[in-house]
Amino acid sequence: MAFKQRVFSGVQPTGNLHLGNYLGAIVKFVELQRHYDCIYCVVDLHAITVPINVWGGPATLRQNTREVTAAFIASGIDPKKHIVFNQSQVAEHAELAWLFNCVARLGWLNRMTQFKEKAGKDRENASIGLYDYPVLMAADILVHRATHVPVGDDQKQHLELCRDIAQKFNNDFAESIREHGHGDGFFPLTEPIIQGPATRVMSLRDGTKKMSKSDASDYSRVNLTDDADTIAQKIRKAKTDPDPLPSEEAGLANRAEADNLVGIYAALAETSKADVLKQYGGAQFSTFKPALVELSVAKLGPIAAEMKRLLQDVAYIDSILANGSTRARASAAETMKSVKDIIGLVQS
Ligand code: ATP
Ligand code: MG
Repeated sequence: MAFKQRVFSGVQPTGNLHLGNYLGAIVKFVELQRHYDCIYCVVDLHAITVPINVWGGPATLRQNTREVTAAFIASGIDPKKHIVFNQSQVAEHAELAWLFNCVARLGWLNRMTQFKEKAGKDRENASIGLYDYPVLMAADILVHRATHVPVGDDQKQHLELCRDIAQKFNNDFAESIREHGHGDGFFPLTEPIIQGPATRVMSLRDGTKKMSKSDASDYSRVNLTDDADTIAQKIRKAKTDPDPLPSEEAGLANRAEADNLVGIYAALAETSKADVLKQYGGAQFSTFKPALVELSVAKLGPIAAEMKRLLQDVAYIDSILANGSTRARASAAETMKSVKDIIGLVQS
């Protein structure tokens, strides 16, 4: 069955939006608007899966939800042509997650590495929501029957789970799906879009760890709201090795920190690592880092300024979310109606 091409993706309102979120996800969101119908979601129900002292409590959640929305708009997402909303305003996301809880298998979730990393050693004390996170994520995507999902490399495994859930639903209910006129599959097998030189931006302090909102050290990441001086300081202090940059990409192997900074430069300059090394091969970090600072400030400065401007008008941000939620609800309700018919849940 041919599915209407549609893009869905989400960002958690967990604070500290960073360069990894921007290059791994938001930049792609902006590009994809040219060729697809897109739905971009502030996934607030995901944010509360970590302990309350980590997500920050009600006032922080509200603030962060508006901040992610502002980042979307400031980066160039058009909320009129496309849909921008926050997840909790469309109850169908959580409703489909329940139905998917009955499709997904424990063994599948037990393999998820993000849960293992985030739960850490004290797994017994992790929330059930954190464990179930990938099922809700599959529901987010499939409640809109999205065919493409731009994400960072860290989300690859969750996208595979999403396909597994779609496939099992399509198999388990094959007969009913056909009877209800949906051909040989109701849910699409969604494709991840993970491309470019910055699909996994690493911590500036440790080239083996991904840049993350939740890293305790603010020096591990460049935040979208950092001013020019802070960006300069963080990049200047970024961990590197003593060697000059290589002229070929192969020379970045086993040099995680160098590889990371070259990847960031390439993504910001909208070029490839090979091209960056053509220009900077043989250069010391004392030359390359200031160039990276200049480029970062040039690209991120206007976004930070626009975010700040937008955040002064909370009513405007909330109106975008309200409008997006109404439109997202229409798309989600249509899916839920069919899903209930397919499963045999009586609707009056
Ligand atoms: P948290 O640590 O709370 O999970 P996060 O930084 O991973 O926060 P998310 O909201 O979970 O942010 O992810 C939003 C998007 O950003 C996802 O598509 C994710 O794959 C992408 N992303 C997150 N970190 C990176 C990174 N370091 N490099 C590239 N993409 C990233
Ligand atoms: Mg994450």
